[in-house]
Amino acid sequence: AEQKEELTAQELADKGFKGHGMLAPFTAGWQTTDLHPLVIERSEGSYVYDTNGRKYLDSLAGLWCTALGGNEPRLVEAANKQLSTLPFYHSFWNRTTKPSLDLAKELLEMFTARKMGKAFFTNSGSEANDTQVKLVWYYNNALGRPNKKKFIARSKSYHGSTLIAASLSGLPALHQKFDLPVSFVLHTDCPHYWRFHLPGETEEEFATRLADNLEKLILKEGPETIAAFIAEPVMGAGGVIPPPATYFEKVQAVVKKYDILFIADEVICAFGRLGTMFGCDKYGIKPDLVSIAKALSSGYLPIGAVLVSPEISEVIHAQSSKLGAFSHGFTYSGHPVSCAVALEALKIYKERNIVEQVQKLSPRFQDGLKAFSDSPIIGEIRGTGLIIGTEFTDNKSPNDLFPPEWVVVMFQITHRNTVFEKLEVSLQIKLPRNTSDVCVFQAWAVVRIYTVYKIVTNINDFAGVGAYFGAECEKRGMLVRVAGDNIMMCPPFIITPEEIDQLISIYGEALRATE
Ligand code: PLP
Repeated sequence: AEQKEELTAQELADKGFKGHGMLAPFTAGWQTTDLHPLVIERSEGSYVYDTNGRKYLDSLAGLWCTALGGNEPRLVEAANKQLSTLPFYHSFWNRTTKPSLDLAKELLEMFTARKMGKAFFTNSGSEANDTQVKLVWYYNNALGRPNKKKFIARSKSYHGSTLIAASLSGLPALHQKFDLPVSFVLHTDCPHYWRFHLPGETEEEFATRLADNLEKLILKEGPETIAAFIAEPVMGAGGVIPPPATYFEKVQAVVKKYDILFIADEVICAFGRLGTMFGCDKYGIKPDLVSIAKALSSGYLPIGAVLVSPEISEVIHAQSSKLGAFSHGFTYSGHPVSCAVALEALKIYKERNIVEQVQKLSPRFQDGLKAFSDSPIIGEIRGTGLIIGTEFTDNKSPNDLFPPEWVVVMFQITHRNTVFEKLEVSLQIKLPRNTSDVCVFQAWAVVRIYTVYKIVTNINDFAGVGAYFGAECEKRGMLVRVAGDNIMMCPPFIITPEEIDQLISIYGEALRATE
């Protein structure tokens, strides 16, 4: 109470305690009305700084995207140059701009897992995946196959949050209360060996079983109704899940057998993240369509793209010559400033041998973190290149989640700019693991303990040890991605070996505090 009296209403309002004006993405309503958001003000290399000047190692590269870190002057210069020459012109009706033409050419040259025919520009990964569906439908309509329209995606996949991209995603939170997924989207198994393999089953056998299940689903639905299969080379937001050995080889054989297109969602994996230029290179994927975004501009400006195979682009070309315009696109498809920045980012990736750089850093990063695998609260640490996920479980077993009726909530009591570490309270509250119940509880807690303006628990992720671990990291100056009992990291490619050591050291301290 004393602390509350010291804060004026205006100060609380300034801190966001009374709520702010954003309907914030992937954020619970009560958080935006009762809790002060962490406001990031500037970035430098692998670090970001909040409005209080606190420095954080940004272990997620923004949102899996700022591959070149926080202040790459060449990207800023590329943007400025383009802004002062031609800040905008569109690419509709056979008008376009040089940066978009150059970027399309560059991307088609860079993608070598197989030859691609055309690049279509979007503003985001979600728009890229929505575009995929329209391209595939247009293609099948042009081929006189109007019934071949269904899509198969995988449980735990993340493909974005527009209607179609959220439907493709295999995460229940994206479907609940939105009446999703749409009916033409089906989901098949998540290829997470550690969690889903049967006793005694090898990775190869697991992959065979999943490919068989995929085939069964196709046969049950009727192969003539299935248009495409979409997959991230390494699943990202679902918990960083690299595929089991032989998985992509086997599922590709199945989809090919039934004339089903393969869409590689490379939104996280592209441009070096896995230690190869594209995820497709790493796993021998020969896709018909590819989605990219994020590191395409190192996250500096919104841009995404779809790469289309020559076979598909030729059919689309012929059909649109017959029908008139190919009526799909966005005002900002091929935005010249985003394209100019993306071109510069791709140039830097090549000049600095970014793939080699990731390969060199990867063992330090992966081995350093995997050394914590023995922790009694860690079930699995998995990753490749510069992407890694940690899954917390009880008894080190994939089947023993931390007791679901227990919710760990951590309060970080903060007054003005001071974080009172001693006032931090960890509560274990016996509640069903049910979002709305916990939501009510947390709202209550905020009202009662009104000096708390920040509860370090994300409503989507409230129930996990991950939330506790994430808060321990944040306290020590590192931001990680938390999702339930998972935490994920994917630092900028420019992270230095010393910064990796710092990342590992904070991880270790946070882990000890969480254990
Ligand atoms: N696909 C994948 C694999 C992603 O990880 C994401 C975002 O995280 C998306 C698509 C959606 O991209 P965006 O948020 O740019 O719409």
